[in-house]
Amino acid sequence: MNRTESLRQKDRKIIWHPFTQMADWEKEAPLIIERGEGNYLIDTEGRRYFDGVSSLWVNLFGHRRREIDEAIRSQLDRLAHSTFLGLSHVPAVELSERLLTVAPEGFSRVFYSDNGSTAMEIAIKMALQYWQQKGGRKKQTFMTLTEAYHGDTIGAVSAGGIDLFHKIFQPLLFTTHRIPTPHCYRCPYGMARKSCGLVCAARMEEEVRRYRQELAAMIVEPLVQGAAGMLMMPEGYLARLREVTRECEVLLICDEVATGFGRTGTMFACEQEEISPDIMAVAKGLTGGYLPLAATLTTKEVYDAFLGRYEEFKAFFHGHSYTANPLGCAAALATLSIFEEQGVLKHVASLSGIMAEELAKIERRRCIGDIRQKGLMVGIEIVEDRHTKAPFPPEKKVGQKVVRKVREKGIILRPLGDVIVLMPPLSSTEDEIRHLVGSVGWAIDLVLAE
Ligand SMILES: *Cc1c(COP(=O)(O)O)cnc(C)c1O
Repeated sequence: MNRTESLRQKDRKIIWHPFTQMADWEKEAPLIIERGEGNYLIDTEGRRYFDGVSSLWVNLFGHRRREIDEAIRSQLDRLAHSTFLGLSHVPAVELSERLLTVAPEGFSRVFYSDNGSTAMEIAIKMALQYWQQKGGRKKQTFMTLTEAYHGDTIGAVSAGGIDLFHKIFQPLLFTTHRIPTPHCYRCPYGMARKSCGLVCAARMEEEVRRYRQELAAMIVEPLVQGAAGMLMMPEGYLARLREVTRECEVLLICDEVATGFGRTGTMFACEQEEISPDIMAVAKGLTGGYLPLAATLTTKEVYDAFLGRYEEFKAFFHGHSYTANPLGCAAALATLSIFEEQGVLKHVASLSGIMAEELAKIERRRCIGDIRQKGLMVGIEIVEDRHTKAPFPPEKKVGQKVVRKVREKGIILRPLGDVIVLMPPLSSTEDEIRHLVGSVGWAIDLVLAE
């Protein structure tokens, strides 16, 4: 048996993959990735694949990016890890300073963890404890959007609303006030964007006002709800959410885990509506897609509520063994330097334009219901009937088939149901974007012709 086959066999026998129906997996011949090179992944048989979803939305500047490799190596020569409980270290101090410089205005503190879910878990606990210590003891609940995704730990799942992932855990979850996701393709109020007058925002304001006494915070993914299928907020919604939460003394938590670091065309999505939340979670792109590191940023106002005499026990009792891992911090510092020195956002703007052009070429297909794009976050929603917007039955696995087909063109993607997600590295070239979108159009045609 060759090496690849032996690795595959072992994988199928002893590994349990995330978000995967393992009964299907066990029948497949999975790709085993061995190397990366720029925007490509290379498998054990030497085949190269364009990393079309940036290794699940994390990679920014390709694999084995020299600047990040060197930063990690040089940190490794000094220190791989030391605790953040009772000690500090050099790269974390430097990174915090840099993060606060690039973040939206108003933040003054950085709390580290190691993934997006924990960054959100921290945001939620921080908001609750803030009100407890601030004298707003009744403020103990959260408001969330119906299609939200904030990660897979129990607190993050409680704030989430994707039934497919979350419903089964219901007995473990705390309840939140859920308001409909503002989303124009399937408007929850049955309106059309041209004439709706942003009813969704008006309703949201009513709900925030109604529950203002008990709400600790409102939690949102700003502009793009990623895991829900790249659902995009109508312009103006986020700004109004900021206004009403401020007026009602409800904290605003923005989950920039997917949208942060240039993905939507600006460093953070919040900037596009010129708002600053009270708490902001970042992870995924923070290390350029290299290492698990996350951060929860907050304001002086929130931070100050945790100060007191030792015996008042107002400290924030939360931390992880690998909080602020120094190798991760070094990778993040190199990532921020690339942003600063290499005109990344300008390149993203030009790629986004190419992306829009290419998407326009494929959009007329009968089975494409909607194409949504914000910067380099794209969702192509495949439906059985364009007029009724009726989806294909799940057993048809249309999304999975398209993704499988597109692999023949040397591209790796991962769908969300029947939404084909395109999230190429920010370092993609124009030709790569054209090839990516063209290949997806080709694959959709072939799969639906079957
Ligand atoms: C991926 C994601 C998370 C969870 O991050 P992990 O690092 O996978 O735990 C949270 N929020 C959003 C918006 C995400 O896209």
